[in-house]
Amino acid sequence: MEIKVAKTAGFCFGVSRAIDIVEKLVAEGKRVCTLGAIIHNPQKVRELEEKGVRIVDSPDEVKSGETLVIRSHGVAASVTDRIKELGVSCSDATCPFVLKIHRIVAEHSKNGDTILIAGDKDHPEVQGIIGHCFSECHTFMNCDELDKLFEDVPNLRQKPVCAVVQTTFDRTEWKKTLKKLQKLYTNAKIFDTICSATSDRQSEAEILASESDLMLVIGGKHSSNTNKLYHICKSKCDKTYLIESAPELPMDALRTAGQIGITAGASTPASIIKEVLVTMTEEIKNTLESEAEPNFEDLLEESFKNYNTDGRVTGVVVGITPTEVRVDVGRKQTGIIPLSELSNDPTAKAEDLVKVGDELNLIIMKTNDQEGTILLSKRLLDAQKGWDEIVKAEEEKTVVTGVVTEIVKGGVIAVSNGVKVFIPASLATATRGESLDGLLKQEVSFRIIETTRQRKRAVGSIRSVLSDERKQKAEAFWADAEVGKKYTGTVKSLTSYGAFVDIGGIDGMVHISELSWNRIKHPSEVVNVGDTIEVYIKALDQEKGKISLGYRKDEDNPWEILKNQYPVGTECEVEIVGLTQFGAFARIIPGIDGLIHVSQISNERVEKPQDVLSVGQKVNVKITAIDFDAKRISLSMKALLADEAPAEEAAETEEAAE
Ligand code: SF4
Repeated sequence: MEIKVAKTAGFCFGVSRAIDIVEKLVAEGKRVCTLGAIIHNPQKVRELEEKGVRIVDSPDEVKSGETLVIRSHGVAASVTDRIKELGVSCSDATCPFVLKIHRIVAEHSKNGDTILIAGDKDHPEVQGIIGHCFSECHTFMNCDELDKLFEDVPNLRQKPVCAVVQTTFDRTEWKKTLKKLQKLYTNAKIFDTICSATSDRQSEAEILASESDLMLVIGGKHSSNTNKLYHICKSKCDKTYLIESAPELPMDALRTAGQIGITAGASTPASIIKEVLVTMTEEIKNTLESEAEPNFEDLLEESFKNYNTDGRVTGVVVGITPTEVRVDVGRKQTGIIPLSELSNDPTAKAEDLVKVGDELNLIIMKTNDQEGTILLSKRLLDAQKGWDEIVKAEEEKTVVTGVVTEIVKGGVIAVSNGVKVFIPASLATATRGESLDGLLKQEVSFRIIETTRQRKRAVGSIRSVLSDERKQKAEAFWADAEVGKKYTGTVKSLTSYGAFVDIGGIDGMVHISELSWNRIKHPSEVVNVGDTIEVYIKALDQEKGKISLGYRKDEDNPWEILKNQYPVGTECEVEIVGLTQFGAFARIIPGIDGLIHVSQISNERVEKPQDVLSVGQKVNVKITAIDFDAKRISLSMKALLADEAPAEEAAETEEAAE
């Protein structure tokens, strides 16, 4: 039997944020109520109820002194208005992805568009979206319902429409309806607002289900996204079961399955997924434990024997030196803890770890009656407790912190809970090949990815935490991102076709043509790695994760400068930059060249421009024509000579008169 759990199983960004908000308020001692169940998971809701969190159906039910939490689904504008009217203390946990839809429909309905929403009209998220529409709006669940809308609603095809989609909508169904919408309307404003957490979860579930003999979908039976996951998996794997918790496991079917896949809805807590896993694997675990492998406690006891121990004692610190700590253990001998036995951190100082009067639990390593001393270890006992914490952190995939104490061959050693954890170089930084030097003596956060009981060996990954942080930042970015929005970013790398810019945890690209109004050969002519620059979003493709950025500014556009400062008739100095048979090209301002036709060089006949002009020469010209559409400018040297002619003629006349 092989069990594979989807990486995307469990709480999504929005749900986890909402739960955090509620739990933080409870921890602060606030009396909390939520507008509807905070998530579609009865177990988690019950757990919160036990902590005093009440569910209310409307702001009018909030009691004095209570804080109301709006869940991630969001609410209609009228509900937030009522909350303000009543003066209710409120924490808004509406997911930013949902808030973005509210903004879109509010803006477009104010402009008179009819709003079409792909989604379940009875789902709270869709009801909240409807509550932000100020014009006619309709919902549909699939292509058939969309067809019916066009039959039932008079003149719908003639109206300007804006379409959005429920964040948890089935992506395959959306693709079908999108095609239909685009066919019916050539100029509909369509926004793909399915959130990335949902599409990632659905895609992974679909692949996992197609590879599995039996598929388990864990989640609330009333949760819309869990039900969608169930249907997606069922279409790929006949034996798909939707269960809310471990007691509902289809044990008979499980016993005969070879490959089992597990996924879970966005509102399924990790503890429930774990409970399901533990229950399923109990049999395997029992088998493993019955094998000869000794457990950690056995190993520790075994290691004590090597130290000629006669047990554990409690001692009180009576003296501290840089090399050892003296302890009173209530015996005639003096208790000594060498610095190396105080902690696993070789850089730690004794005075920072303990102070006189501290009571410590210790292991006796050696008794020396002749010298009247007992050699003690705090490190070994801490290591036992610490090891338990590390194993728990591995099982629960929680993030632990530790200080990097050494840079070793192939990685670094970080000490967490008194246990040395090896972090391979490939998992110690955000990208491969980065220097590890900066990590020394730093506190770092990491996940435990492997533990070996027998050797008490733990392996960690800093990268896992960094990539989660990056993912969260990316989700927050996509929830807010829109074309035209400005960012201050850092240039991360340059290629021949553009510059990659970090705009706060996510990278976008400025194409080389967007870096400058002038023609450049390489982005390094304008920006360098490490530069802080102002950019704005030119285009977005959330499905492909592509962000196109703009850098050059309209006010620097040389054609704008030309329009404002060099109208037709302007006389100015230009530099010859190229010569052809039919004329000379001359630079008026950087980025703008004009043509002096051979016939416009002189009053005299010029055979070839090269006969009278050379590249680099500066000459005076008059701008005689500008074609902004064709981007062509005509210049004339002759026009200036013609202007000067009357003056010369006048001089000649004066001379003749004398
Ligand atoms: S929009 Fe996405 S991230 Fe937000 S709560 Fe819904 S599923 Fe979760």
